[in-house]
Amino acid sequence: MNTTTPKSTADETTTRAWVDIDLGALLRNGQALAKHADVPLLPMVKADGYGLGALPVMKTLDAVEPYGWGVATVQEGRELRAAGSTKPVIVFTPMLPSELRHVRDARLVPTLASAATIAAWAQTGGGPWHLAIDTGVSRAGVRWDCIGTVLDAVRDAPPEGAFTHFHSAELDNGSMEIQERRFRDAIAALPARPTLLHADNSAAAVRRSPSPWNLVRPGVFLYGVGSGAGAAIQPEPVAHLRARIVEIRSLNAGDSVGYDATWIAARPSRVATLALGYADGYRRSLGNNADALIHGHRVPVIGTVMMDMTMLDVTDVPCAIGDSATLFGSDGGAMLTLEAVAGRGGLSPYELLTGLRQRIARIPK
Ligand SMILES: *Cc1c(COP(=O)(O)O)cnc(C)c1O
Repeated sequence: MNTTTPKSTADETTTRAWVDIDLGALLRNGQALAKHADVPLLPMVKADGYGLGALPVMKTLDAVEPYGWGVATVQEGRELRAAGSTKPVIVFTPMLPSELRHVRDARLVPTLASAATIAAWAQTGGGPWHLAIDTGVSRAGVRWDCIGTVLDAVRDAPPEGAFTHFHSAELDNGSMEIQERRFRDAIAALPARPTLLHADNSAAAVRRSPSPWNLVRPGVFLYGVGSGAGAAIQPEPVAHLRARIVEIRSLNAGDSVGYDATWIAARPSRVATLALGYADGYRRSLGNNADALIHGHRVPVIGTVMMDMTMLDVTDVPCAIGDSATLFGSDGGAMLTLEAVAGRGGLSPYELLTGLRQRIARIPK
């Protein structure tokens, strides 16, 4: 795998904590979703491929012949270009007028939503662009009921595509249908129908087969997070967070563990220290509030999660210094899903995955 930083040896990268990334599972998730949606994928590889590494993700998913790639920033798009990608790269956050020439220079496709930016993009000599239509998230895009404000600009510089984004596609509460009706109304008001219409994030793409639109924009499903037990298709886990046991000690009943002594041994106990902490992205809210796997057995995280270390109660599980623990993902036949671990800590699985820090090596397999 090509990376821009010098590669450490496998031994060095797995001495503390690391993420095993199962690129085979990523590929199978992409294949399963492409088959289900029956339209090309526009995989979202923003935030460095949800923290897993945009370049290995891109190289792997190239095999499903995606339409292009979705990013959040110009810099992310540039990195894909520098890695040799020639497919369309769409930037899904609003661009400041001052950024438009960088968008053009990197041959990226902006998502625009106001008459002023559409005109500014045309003035840079910019190429294809997509019209962002807000149907209820209220964060970016022209409101569906204000589409009149861009009609002149759209007539002068017609967009190649138009899209919207769902706020609750994972809930079966009718909101997706309302948003989609608004999207259809807005498109019908345009002087011409753009060639590429898209709306589905992972949860929407999973909910229906085939997709009613020209592309789907999955993110989290590809990276192993599904939309619940009843979903039509389930992804395989892709990311497995591991850390080494670097110390093991014996405690007497009554001894405390961690800052603020939030865990007190109720019996003589064995405690293992992991070389992983919140500065790695293993969040503090998981202290006294999560499990880990050691040799396929569940053990509790005890005490506060610290900046660089986290403790486990391993009284009932034989283990030694140098053994690895799994904080999410699979170990032997046992499994801790990202959703379940995140849920215990009051986090979203997106947050836990994209919050993993650079101190942790990504080890693609
Ligand atoms: C991040 C993002 C997606 C992907 O969402 P998932 O829930 O991860 O599938 C799709 N569309 C847009 C505009 C996004 O920003």
